[in-house]
Amino acid sequence: MPSLPHTISNAAMLLRSKKISSVELTKACIDRIEKIDATLNAVVHRNFQGALAQAKKVDALGTFESPLSGIPYLAKDVYCEKGVTTTACSNVLRNKDYIPPFDSTTTKRLKAASAISLGKTNTDEFTMGASTETSCFGVTKNPWDLSRVAGGSSGGSAAAVAADECFFALATDTGGSIRQPAGFCNCAGMRVTYGRTSRYGVMSMASSLDTIGCITKTVEDTAIVLSAIAGADPLDGTTADVPVPDYRKALTGNVKGLKIGLPKEYFIDGMNAEVESAVRDAVKVLKDLGATVKEISLKHTKYATPTYYVLCPSEVSSNMARYDGVRYGHTVKEPKDLLDYYERVRSEGFGPEVKRRIMIGTYALSAGYYDAYYRQAQKVRTLICKDFEDAFEDVDVILSPISPTPAFKIGAHADDPVAMYLEDVFLDGQVMAGIPCMSVQCGFSKENLPIGLQIMGPQWGEEIVLRTGDAYQKATDWHMRKPRI
Ligand code: GLN
Repeated sequence: MPSLPHTISNAAMLLRSKKISSVELTKACIDRIEKIDATLNAVVHRNFQGALAQAKKVDALGTFESPLSGIPYLAKDVYCEKGVTTTACSNVLRNKDYIPPFDSTTTKRLKAASAISLGKTNTDEFTMGASTETSCFGVTKNPWDLSRVAGGSSGGSAAAVAADECFFALATDTGGSIRQPAGFCNCAGMRVTYGRTSRYGVMSMASSLDTIGCITKTVEDTAIVLSAIAGADPLDGTTADVPVPDYRKALTGNVKGLKIGLPKEYFIDGMNAEVESAVRDAVKVLKDLGATVKEISLKHTKYATPTYYVLCPSEVSSNMARYDGVRYGHTVKEPKDLLDYYERVRSEGFGPEVKRRIMIGTYALSAGYYDAYYRQAQKVRTLICKDFEDAFEDVDVILSPISPTPAFKIGAHADDPVAMYLEDVFLDGQVMAGIPCMSVQCGFSKENLPIGLQIMGPQWGEEIVLRTGDAYQKATDWHMRKPRI
C-alpha cells in the first residue's frame, strides 16, 4: 500500500486509479486513531464497524464518481447521524447516549457523495467555548504541543485533521469555532455565508449565528467539501436559494489586481509580535503575486465581541430549553414534583459554561432588560454589518490574524470566563455580518506553534476567499508541515 495520502484531492486520485482502496484508507485512519487518540482525545464516539462496511460497499461499486467517494471523515459531536451516538459532549445527552434516529442534511449529503463516516469529534459542551475544555469528555490536546489547547469549540475536529486521523472533519462556527482551532492546529477552515449551508440536524447553539462547515488541510479540500454540502435545503428555512458553484473552479491561482484591505482595528499596539509579522509576511506574499493592499477601517470592531456575548447567550437560553429530560437525554429518579424534576435534570446535566450562558441570556431577554441589552445589541450588529458592506465597496478581501496569540496552555483561562470570551476578538465581527471567512496556515512561532491568517469576503463571496487562500497556499508550504505525534 502506498503511504497514506493526506489530502482529499490526493486520496481521490489514488482511489480512482485503483492504487488504494477505500477500505485501506479507512483502516489507516482507524489504526491512527487507535494509536494516538488516547493521547489527543479528539474522537469521542467511534463508528468503525459502520465505516468499514460503508467503505466495502464503495469499493465494490468502484466508480468513485464524487471526489469524496470512499474518503473517511469525522464529524463534530453535534451533527446528528442516524444510528451514531451524538452527545454535544454534554452529560445531558451522554448519560443516556443519545442515538439520533435521523441524519442532518450535511451527513446525508456526504452519504450521497459516498464519504465514509468514522465517528464524532470532541467539542466544548454544545459548542460553547474557545478551547474544548468545557467538554464532558475532557480537553482535546493540541498535536503540536500536548500542554496546549487545540482551540475550540471544534478542537477535536482540528486536532483530528492535523494528526491525520481523518481526511477532513465537519465543524461548526458560531463565533469562530471553525477558524480558531484550524489556526491553532495548522489546518484550513472556512466559515461560510450565513444561509449557505443547512443547519438542519445539527444541534443548535445560537441559531442566527451558527454555520456549518469543515476543517481540512488545504483550501482545495475545503472547496471540494463545500461543493458537496452547500446549497438550499427545504428543511432549513434560513438557507438561501443561491446556486452552488463547483468551488474548485475558483482556484485559479491568480490574484493579479486583487484588492486587499487591512483593517487598522485588527492590528493594534501590543499585539503578539510573531502573529503580526506572520500575517504581514503573508500579505507581502499576496502582494508579490500581484495583489494591491490598502489600510481600511472597520470602526465598530471593538463592539463585536461584547455584542456577540449578548446575542449568543440570548439565543442559547432559548435553544437549551429543549433539554428537559422528558423526551430524551439525562433524567432523574423520584422527583418530588415537576419543578424539582426540571431543576435536577438541568443542574445535573449541564456544565458551568452552559448554565452561565442560560442565565446571561435569560437576563438579557427578560422584560425589564430586553430593550437595554438584546435590542441594543441587534442595533450594533447592524452597524457592524454596515462597516463590512462599506469596506467591500472598496476592496475584494480583508485580511487579519485569526487569534491574538498562538494556542494557549490548557487551563490558562480556567478561572476567567471573560478572558476566554476575549479569545474571539478577531472572530466575532464576521459573525455579526454573516460573511464568509477562513483560516489559512501562515507561519509558526518560535515555539513551533501554528499561526493562522484570516481571509474575509463579502456575503456569498466564498469563491474569492477560496481563490485568495489557494493562491497563497500555492506560493507557500506552511500547510505541508505536520506535527510530530
Ligand atoms: N468562542 C465562541 C463562544 O464560546 C465560539 C463558539 C462557537 O463558534 N461555537 O461562543
